[in-house]
Amino acid sequence: MNSFTFNSYSQKVLFGNGVLARLDEEVAALGASRTLVLSTPNQAQEAERVVEQLGPRAAGLFAGAVMHVPVETARQAIEAAAQRGADSIVAFGGGSTIGLAKAIALESPLPIIAIPTTYAGSEMTPIYGVTEHGLKRTGRDLKVLPRTVLYDPELTLDLPVQFSITSGINALAHAAEGLYAQDAEPVSTLMAKEAIGALARGLPAIRAAAAGTDRAALLAARSDALYGAWLCGCVLGRVGMALHHKLCHTLGGSFNLPHAEVHTVILPHALAYNAGAAPQAMAAISQAMNAPDAPQAVYDLALANGAPVSLREIGMRAEDVEAACEIAMRNQYPNPRPLEHGAVLQLLKDAFEGRRPGS
Ligand code: NAD
Repeated sequence: MNSFTFNSYSQKVLFGNGVLARLDEEVAALGASRTLVLSTPNQAQEAERVVEQLGPRAAGLFAGAVMHVPVETARQAIEAAAQRGADSIVAFGGGSTIGLAKAIALESPLPIIAIPTTYAGSEMTPIYGVTEHGLKRTGRDLKVLPRTVLYDPELTLDLPVQFSITSGINALAHAAEGLYAQDAEPVSTLMAKEAIGALARGLPAIRAAAAGTDRAALLAARSDALYGAWLCGCVLGRVGMALHHKLCHTLGGSFNLPHAEVHTVILPHALAYNAGAAPQAMAAISQAMNAPDAPQAVYDLALANGAPVSLREIGMRAEDVEAACEIAMRNQYPNPRPLEHGAVLQLLKDAFEGRRPGS
């Protein structure tokens, strides 16, 4: 029998090729007239074009976003917003840039318009994180939830293929863990299944199309992947994550491993760990990916598309594996299979070596 709690957020989402052209009217729709544009240094040129597009509605560009939102960067951005009299923020980029926008909104209640250019999914969640003295403090606050989100697949055409695959598997992890979340509900489950299907189609198609010259095929693949990423972000914002996200948080935060790559390596092993305790979720993933075994399907998605499959190849040291396990085991949290030290350590060892799950 069904029993669930369903939460929904008030956000406006525009999806489609060329929706960036509607930014100006969306800023106006929020009653805003001076918006500070944020980006990483890497995307400053593209973000500068957004500033030009906004004309008098722009309060300039802050191109200092970096991974994990260091508190110093957040302070500089808050100051820039105040000095320039900004009444809103446009976050143009991936999870790092959207994270910076959230850090500003946490301190001063400016509405955020997010223009995601990766598949990380932060734009659909009220989750924020700020790093101080090497520790990332995370929390949930509706103040930081972007009010408007513009998904324009054309903006993802230049996302490097390798990063597209890892970022896409990062997204897929939200949907996969959403399927066995303690607070999963019918809508999050529908979204998760649809998302996994779209990413499983889109990611290999991006790789194939990027090797050729058919721009329409590439754009179609980009559209599939971004659509899947949107739904994955919705799932992440609505239901609680489990062992996989905890391990990735530990590995990223304490051992400075790259976010999307860590998700890519860990996901097949976290799914294998939970497989026996979450058979319905595994069946849903298998069905969405059109493959007999969920952990192996995710492993193959990475392997076949040139993404890393071992922690070793993304910079982890063998001597840190036990420490990572200790940190991840410090707090218990909901997970389909209870957290057992020996089994979690084995999971990390398998991921370190890049072994095929279940082998
Ligand atoms: P990122 O934002 O750090 O981007 C990685 C790099 O790719 C950057 O240099 C960026 O400028 C560049 N880039 C982005 N889009 C591009 C494009 N279309 N073309 C070319 N280059 C592009 O990486 P990410 O994986 O999107 O975000 C990771 C961060 O987001 C982590 O800190 C993670 O914790 C956070 N995150 C937060 C949430 C949340 O709900 N709060 C959810 C997911 C991720």
